[in-house]
Amino acid sequence: MKRIVVLGGGESGAGAAVLAHKKEFDVFLSDSSAIKPRYKEWLNKYGIRFEEGKHTEELILNADEVIKSPGIPDNAPLVVKIREKGIPVISEIEFAGRYTNAYTVCITGSNGKTTTTSLIYHMMQKAGLNVGLAGNIGNSFAYQVAECSYDYYVIELSSFQLDGIYNFKPDIAILLNITPDHLDRYDYKMQNYVESKFRITKNLSEDDCFIFCSDDSVTVEQLKRIVLRAQQLPFSQREKENQTAWLEDLDMFINYNNSDFSMSINDLSLKGKHNVYNSMAAGIAGHVLNIRKDVIRESLSDFQGVEHRLERVLTVRGVTYINDSKATNVNSAWYALESMTTPVVWIAGGVDKGNDYSELMELVKTKVKALICLGTDNSKLHAAFDGVVPVVVDALSAEEAVQQAYKLSAPGDTVLLSPACASFDLFDNYEDRGRKFKQAVRAL
Ligand code: ADP
Repeated sequence: MKRIVVLGGGESGAGAAVLAHKKEFDVFLSDSSAIKPRYKEWLNKYGIRFEEGKHTEELILNADEVIKSPGIPDNAPLVVKIREKGIPVISEIEFAGRYTNAYTVCITGSNGKTTTTSLIYHMMQKAGLNVGLAGNIGNSFAYQVAECSYDYYVIELSSFQLDGIYNFKPDIAILLNITPDHLDRYDYKMQNYVESKFRITKNLSEDDCFIFCSDDSVTVEQLKRIVLRAQQLPFSQREKENQTAWLEDLDMFINYNNSDFSMSINDLSLKGKHNVYNSMAAGIAGHVLNIRKDVIRESLSDFQGVEHRLERVLTVRGVTYINDSKATNVNSAWYALESMTTPVVWIAGGVDKGNDYSELMELVKTKVKALICLGTDNSKLHAAFDGVVPVVVDALSAEEAVQQAYKLSAPGDTVLLSPACASFDLFDNYEDRGRKFKQAVRAL
């Protein structure tokens, strides 16, 4: 009996263990920390052997194949040892892909993955397709392959998940953009990160589609370096020539197999330039999936958005409060500020990931009337924006930040939490930061 070891007992690891058990492998799951009760329940239900709080090397190095969770870096000493022994290390996505013939739409990129994945899922559901939502959101792909019987999957893929892919092949692959992120996991080499993102195209054949942003120079440059057999479907807000989706004034056009689709960007439910890109990618996918134009149009205009991504919370005394806590890097904060059409009281800060704020300067100068620095160390924000923004103050909790914003705003303004930083100095994670912000707003 083939021995499978699963490293990591979170959503993807526990899901992979359940699938491996159902496929009658000898499964052992090992997690160096505590496993959440929900996942222990799954393991116990099927009598799957596991350990937590440690890694027993004799057991692990005895595997025929290892399924590694995306959170564990490739240079972790245990992973290096496993590879040295010649044991294949794969991702949960690779493993699950072996056991389903479902049609897959896979989305990657540095920013916009969750939004675009959710938008496409919404569209496919509206079209009446039997579709599962997997990857970084919802239940893991492996768990759903084990427990459900979907005809289609929409899968959000991070670069860490892509790193463990060898034969897995999407039917539609979408690459939204590539900007520097997680470089600590890629030897601080941008090209390694680019190649990781491009693994999504690795096994595409002539029958598959590759949807990408041709305004993204990193993507375009890499495309020149590789051989890609798939049908290329580019989208752009700058060019019209040779594009599958493009913009003319305020109208978004899609031409797939002479489909001749257009809609005003004012009718898109998701606002901001970045969401025009996300909507274009989703709209093209809808065409490839042969979804009716009126369903595509309706889906793009009634999608409710995703929590913590430019999420409108409330309007209090004429001031609109927006939660964009997921904006954990400068690039996503840029898109948030860019989409603002009123004076902004901006709440930013947290754990700086080597941020360079100069690219925000123009937007901040023209749009931001006050900056509230929400973090334990706000020195970089002060260095960048003192004297640029008329008022710059500090806050040490979401509540304090919201109170300050309340005082500093006037009817017609927007209070925007778009931190450009990670949240770990004051919060458990970005969700915790977003929820505390919303609670404080509702308490006003
Ligand atoms: P991801 O899942 O890739 O982290 P999300 O959809 O969660 O991306 O969005 C995170 C943040 O990134 C959003 O709050 C928004 O500010 C920004 N963003 C979303 N889409 C894009 C895009 N296409 N390009 C650049 N930034 C984007």
